[in-house]
Amino acid sequence: MHFAKLDDSPMFRKQIQTLEEGSESLGERCLKFYKGCRKYTEGLGEGYDGDIAFASALETFGGGHNDPISVAFGGPVMTKFTIALREIGTYKEVLRSQVENMLNERLLQFVNLDLHDVKEARKRFDKASLLYDQAREKFLALRKGTRSDVASLLEEELHHARSTFEQARFNLVTALSTVEAKKRFEFLEAVSETMAAHLRYFKQGYELLHQMEPYINQVSTYAKQSKERSNYEQAALNERMQEYKRQIDRESRWSSNVSNGSPNGDGIQTIGRSSHKMIEAVMLSAAKGKVQTIRQGYLSKRSSNLRGDWKRRFFVLDSRGMLYYYRKRSSKPSGSGSQLSSQRNSSELGSGLLSRWLSSHYHGGVHDEKSVAHHTVNLLTSTIKVDADQSDLRFCFRIISPTKNYTLQAESALDQMDWIEKITGVIASLLSSQGPERGLPASPMGSGHHRSTSESSSFESADYDHGAVEEYTSERFASLHMDRPLRISQQQRTALKTEKPIDVLKKVCGNDRCADCGAPEPDWASLNLGVLVCIECSGVHRNLGVHISKVRSLTLDVKVWEPSVLNLFQSLGNTFANSVWEELLHSNGVFQVDLGPSGLYRTNKQQMVYFNKPSPADSISMKEKFIHVKYEDKLFVRKQKENQSVAQQMWDAVRANDKKGLYGLIVTSETDINAIYNQLETTSNPSLTLAKVMLLQEQTAIDPYSAELSLHKTFSGSSLNPTKSTSDDVIVNNSVIIDDLDLDGCSLLHLACETADIGMIELLLQYAAYVNATDSKGRTPLHRCIIRGKTTLAKLLLTRGADTQAVDEKGKTPFQVAVESNFDDVEVLALLSDTHHR
Ligand SMILES: [Zn+2]
Repeated sequence: MHFAKLDDSPMFRKQIQTLEEGSESLGERCLKFYKGCRKYTEGLGEGYDGDIAFASALETFGGGHNDPISVAFGGPVMTKFTIALREIGTYKEVLRSQVENMLNERLLQFVNLDLHDVKEARKRFDKASLLYDQAREKFLALRKGTRSDVASLLEEELHHARSTFEQARFNLVTALSTVEAKKRFEFLEAVSETMAAHLRYFKQGYELLHQMEPYINQVSTYAKQSKERSNYEQAALNERMQEYKRQIDRESRWSSNVSNGSPNGDGIQTIGRSSHKMIEAVMLSAAKGKVQTIRQGYLSKRSSNLRGDWKRRFFVLDSRGMLYYYRKRSSKPSGSGSQLSSQRNSSELGSGLLSRWLSSHYHGGVHDEKSVAHHTVNLLTSTIKVDADQSDLRFCFRIISPTKNYTLQAESALDQMDWIEKITGVIASLLSSQGPERGLPASPMGSGHHRSTSESSSFESADYDHGAVEEYTSERFASLHMDRPLRISQQQRTALKTEKPIDVLKKVCGNDRCADCGAPEPDWASLNLGVLVCIECSGVHRNLGVHISKVRSLTLDVKVWEPSVLNLFQSLGNTFANSVWEELLHSNGVFQVDLGPSGLYRTNKQQMVYFNKPSPADSISMKEKFIHVKYEDKLFVRKQKENQSVAQQMWDAVRANDKKGLYGLIVTSETDINAIYNQLETTSNPSLTLAKVMLLQEQTAIDPYSAELSLHKTFSGSSLNPTKSTSDDVIVNNSVIIDDLDLDGCSLLHLACETADIGMIELLLQYAAYVNATDSKGRTPLHRCIIRGKTTLAKLLLTRGADTQAVDEKGKTPFQVAVESNFDDVEVLALLSDTHHR
């Protein structure tokens, strides 16, 4: 405590002086600090200007929603980012003004008011002190006998000077003690408040960006997917161009080989008849709304005017039975830009924007025939003739309709033949299927190309365009084969086509629609969940993490679609998978959940949230919410209590090769997929009851494995293979079957190698079954497959990390076991021995 004694003493004066010197140097420090603070706030101000400049630049770059160029590179998506950037800039401005008030102003005030007060008080004190000294001197200089009135006047003066002096002295004390007091808290308060302002600044920024995080991830995931797709499309385009060149090459060689004349009518008839079936099939699929191009290319067309000159026109024959050609246009087409912008004229922001942009953008880039004028030939009432009217030109044919005749010239004999054949086929097909239900549209604009105002249908028609282009390539491919002397048979061609995973998988029940939102024709899949999803939902699945969903493309990720994966997917399907994942949702359509304080979300209120399955048109954020609660929180799954009976059921499901059963058990319970058989036996099944034995026998009787076992038995018992029967691993008889196939210490994967197929192995591996688990005899699943001669399963295990160096209790690797048991698949032996010698 300063000023313990208030008497004006030398100690008091000394103390005052020390304090004044202290406040003087504090003032200098404050001014230096203030300079730094000013620099900082000015910097923040410039930072704010920079932020706004950046946001504006990005906004300009992104363009509006009606700007087709910006739509093409994702401008509307960027607009959402500019809003965030502006917001962050504002936070910076708020921080700047807070620092200004809390620190700069306060410092300045301290220097200008408090410290200034000390100086002023000192001045007044000095002045008062001087006056007091003078008054005292005068008073003390009075002689004895001075007139009393003079004396009393001086005394009064002295008294007055003294009280002024005391007042000034206390004013100085007050000013100094104010400074002393403020010293203790003023700076701490200012700096801590500044720090708190920084904390708020970063918190706000974090919260804003955190909210945006899923959106940011989505955009970057989409960009990644686009990149993959573009790479793929570029490769495909290159491939198509190569193929196109090769075909041109072949055609020119072919036509030079096939002498110089046009083929006769009989020849065309034969080819025509054989391709009619194909055309009919294609046109039947068109009735279901899928339009394919049967053939397209340039033909010379003779004008109907008097001159009869020839014009080169691009003709398209499609599976709706329409033949049309494009005419030259005088003006530039209005372009697809306006069309895109009409989709885009909603200015609403948010994730709905992203989803719409994704859907419009994703299928963009098909530069369409719609903008080019065309003329349609009515084939239904037409006939075709192989010659030209009043012309001896080669490669000609005529289409004769009641209203108009078209004389056309192909560019080669082959070309001519193919056009005639396909048009004939289409006419035949039109005639045979003609009925009131299949009215022909007047122009290609009429159907398929029709653009409705709703988002979803513009999406579909864009999708259809895409499909048409793809079909075009495959048609081209097919016609290529047809043109060869050795034609591939119908079945073979169908087989070729259906080999694509997307074709195989979309036939599985429920797979025609996205498992999560119901969007049509999903072309993404979750490998471990066994479901097909649309592109939007696939993005959400990616964000779930691979421990929940492993997303792959049906069309782009060709390598993952191994037979085992296809088998698994064929056994599951969206309908089944949803019966497990949405069981509780299905029971009443809408799911209602109580999200209390202990519930899923941290909230104090008792809340009821209604979950409804999203539809394709719903916003991506709704889909995201749904997918999270569906797969991550398993909210709609009817969970089982974990007990031994679940483990037993899993066991039984694998034994019966029941993939659906096992999948359901994996999802609904947390039972360890790597559980070992003997543990199971000892705890849950102390005694093998008669009923149980009967059940086992029943199961093994219908088990496909029992058939294989008996085959194996005959085989190993035959004279062809005397060595096999000596190996005690291969002793197979009924007692082994009833004794649970020697399953001591087996895992589910071991069991699957005995009783199930590759799909089951795939399912187990997808759910982290340990590929190198050992049974009580030290054998891995690979050992077991080798012993049983199961080459397909062995190959699968080898591609999935099965250890070729694992040794059983006798110290034998799978390769040694294979050699001993006369395992004869060369490929597997090579795989085993390759690493064997390494
Ligand atoms: Zn979906």
